[in-house]
Amino acid sequence: MDQKTLSSANLGRLSKLPRARLISGQTLLSGLPNLGQIYQGEVKLFAKRDDCTDLAFGGNKVRQLEFYLGEAQAQNADTILITGAVQSNFVRLAAAGARKLAMDCHIQLEERVAKDDPYYRTSGNVLLDKLLGATLHSYPDGEDEAGADRNLGKIAEDLSAKGHKPYIIPLSPGHAPLGALGYVVCAEELLQQQIDADLKIDEIVVASGSGNTHAGLLFGLRALGSSIPVKGICVRRSVDEQSPRINNRCREIAELLEIDNPVSEDDIEVDDTFLAPGYGAASDDVMQAILVAARTEALMLDPTYTGKSMAGFMARASQAEEGSTLVYIHTGGTPAIFAYEPALERAFTQFSGG
Ligand SMILES: *Cc1c(COP(=O)(O)O)cnc(C)c1O
Repeated sequence: MDQKTLSSANLGRLSKLPRARLISGQTLLSGLPNLGQIYQGEVKLFAKRDDCTDLAFGGNKVRQLEFYLGEAQAQNADTILITGAVQSNFVRLAAAGARKLAMDCHIQLEERVAKDDPYYRTSGNVLLDKLLGATLHSYPDGEDEAGADRNLGKIAEDLSAKGHKPYIIPLSPGHAPLGALGYVVCAEELLQQQIDADLKIDEIVVASGSGNTHAGLLFGLRALGSSIPVKGICVRRSVDEQSPRINNRCREIAELLEIDNPVSEDDIEVDDTFLAPGYGAASDDVMQAILVAARTEALMLDPTYTGKSMAGFMARASQAEEGSTLVYIHTGGTPAIFAYEPALERAFTQFSGG
């Protein structure tokens, strides 16, 4: 791209959709020179610091919530309903966003991770959910997205019967992916930062969970004429499941924005190397990546999401061509670190000096 400013002409209805402003400016694109020194061939590494979005310890969900909560406001809702894993960052930020917009929040926590240690159950995001005064519910099955959504629907009916105006942030696929629009916006922001800093980004690495972040970013880049490869690091599902998920999300974004889908199937890159042993649990490589990122760049990463995407980023950095520029999207997860204290303590012993 040679133009000095970007045009939003290719983003269809984006600027017409309701949006609650929760972020006041750009997040930083910061150099990672100490980490870069580990790799041969002068690779230039950067982090897009979406862990520092403005609200309640930040994270990628703040951008996503701008569109969900915008729609909730447009519908005059007074209560937000959301479902997620026990240590979900999304539900914590939904509760925080609801408070900022003077709404209540009901949180349904699903049993997605087989863990009964007290840190996981009561610290980190759970502590913050309670501090924010959200009403907590639980759902026994962590792999039943449609069932979790139906149960939220029941809670919403009860609230309506009591005179409230509930708004549900849905989990299961098949709903308009409003959250992904936050990352269409981020793509535009990142391309502008690339111009302003006179960079040529060769690759972007991002965690791929629900896929809203990955699909939104990829869609936004392509819609704005950029062909920068986006590598999605699987945190919940294998490549076989995640690839079609991202493909569907891109199609749904195109429908929502009423523009042609600029993303082709071959454009979707996902990598599940660092997924094992599964959602919410981390391999040795991932724990080591967390320690290295903290001890070189003071980046704070968690075992569920950002540790995995960092392990993927490091693998790309070690294979990158001489002089190339790689960007890591730091998607947040800071409070979850405190829920994984025993796993981190073990890693300190195992990789001491690492
Ligand atoms: C939710 C989350 C992700 C995954 O984002 P999706 O949009 O669901 O793919 C990555 N990192 C953190 C810290 C998250 O909370």
